[in-house]
Amino acid sequence: MSSGGGVSLWELGSLVAALRVRRRSPQDVERRARAQIRAFLGYCREHVPYYADYPDVPLEDLPVLAKPVVVAAGVERFHGPVADYLVDRTSGTTGLAIEVRHDRRAYGYHGATIVRRFLTAGYRPWWPITQLKPFDRPTRWFQRLGVFPRTVIRSTLPDADVARAVLASRPRVLMAYPLVLRTLLRTLTPDELDRLRCRLRVVLTDSELLTPEARTQLADAFGVPVFDEYSAYEVLTVSSDCALGHAHVDLDRVWVEVLGPDGGPVPAGEEGDVVVTHYRERAMPLVRYRVGDRGALVPGRCGCGSPLPRMRLATGRTDEHVVLISGRRLGAALFLRAGAYTPGLAECMVRQDATGLITVHLVLERGAEFEPVARGYDAQVAGSLDGTRMRLVEADRVELTAAGKGRFLTSDYRPRADA
Ligand SMILES: [Zn+2]
Repeated sequence: MSSGGGVSLWELGSLVAALRVRRRSPQDVERRARAQIRAFLGYCREHVPYYADYPDVPLEDLPVLAKPVVVAAGVERFHGPVADYLVDRTSGTTGLAIEVRHDRRAYGYHGATIVRRFLTAGYRPWWPITQLKPFDRPTRWFQRLGVFPRTVIRSTLPDADVARAVLASRPRVLMAYPLVLRTLLRTLTPDELDRLRCRLRVVLTDSELLTPEARTQLADAFGVPVFDEYSAYEVLTVSSDCALGHAHVDLDRVWVEVLGPDGGPVPAGEEGDVVVTHYRERAMPLVRYRVGDRGALVPGRCGCGSPLPRMRLATGRTDEHVVLISGRRLGAALFLRAGAYTPGLAECMVRQDATGLITVHLVLERGAEFEPVARGYDAQVAGSLDGTRMRLVEADRVELTAAGKGRFLTSDYRPRADA
């Protein structure tokens, strides 16, 4: 959940509005979003220097932003005249970090949509939440009132300490990155897992690509449904899951476009680059921000009854891929999915060096032997590499980013364009 005090009034005021969205028609939700975006663009042109150059340009004709574009244009040119804001620094996974401002009013509405996420997941406000995070989280005002009670455990502690603390906290809700949850599962004894499962009602994941296989694996092991969330520092939450496992866009906060290689929109159902406009943000409006992920809008209405449109993420971040000798790019999803189908394999981590050689580091399940696991993994993956060299080695664990997420794939290979 978001940080700091001071957003409480906005959160309370926004909560009613955010919950009411669930009863609106899809047409009504979209109409309201479009009207708010028109007003938002008017604000941007009048008050945010960068947009002064684009009078009367509709949203879909404004240039697409990305981190390097913002840096090149000058971060301060995106600042709006809002004195009351919070500061977030983007994770430097792409090597470039920018300081993002979020105005408290927009943050308040975001908080309200998080409450909506919890309620959609079947949460009851008195259920204890245990959150595994690489850093501490401040206590929120409503937690002092006894609702959304939360224990935060540092996921960077030794695995056995994390497991002990999780058991002691007796959670109904467990929140963590998928990698942290899988590590927890390997650390708990069968008896301990039984104790945890007795009280647990729901698992909430975020921040890492959750493949369908990984979701099923977690749901089976913990014995409860898994609800994922998709967010980025710059635009906060983009979508969260319904009970049917579909990701619904927070259309009352963000406008999502999926663009093809030519920069135009691709038809619903087709994959492209995810571009997000957080249209309630007035401290630092980033209109049409390319978050760096591939995904698709999902056509049609969901069986869960939500009026919010659906999307799905494809293969993880666009900048996280290996390049095969054929020139084809391959994201982390193929490697992770192959891992899920390899008996005895707990995790895998992909590294491509400057010569193009792909090394996959295999983390084994307890008691598993390397050779048969490696053979099994090779059989899953080798056929998809177009003949690119791959070697398999054993590893203790998956490396983490500064933000505590799994660094599943990196590549130092930069083939020449004409090669
Ligand atoms: Zn749904």
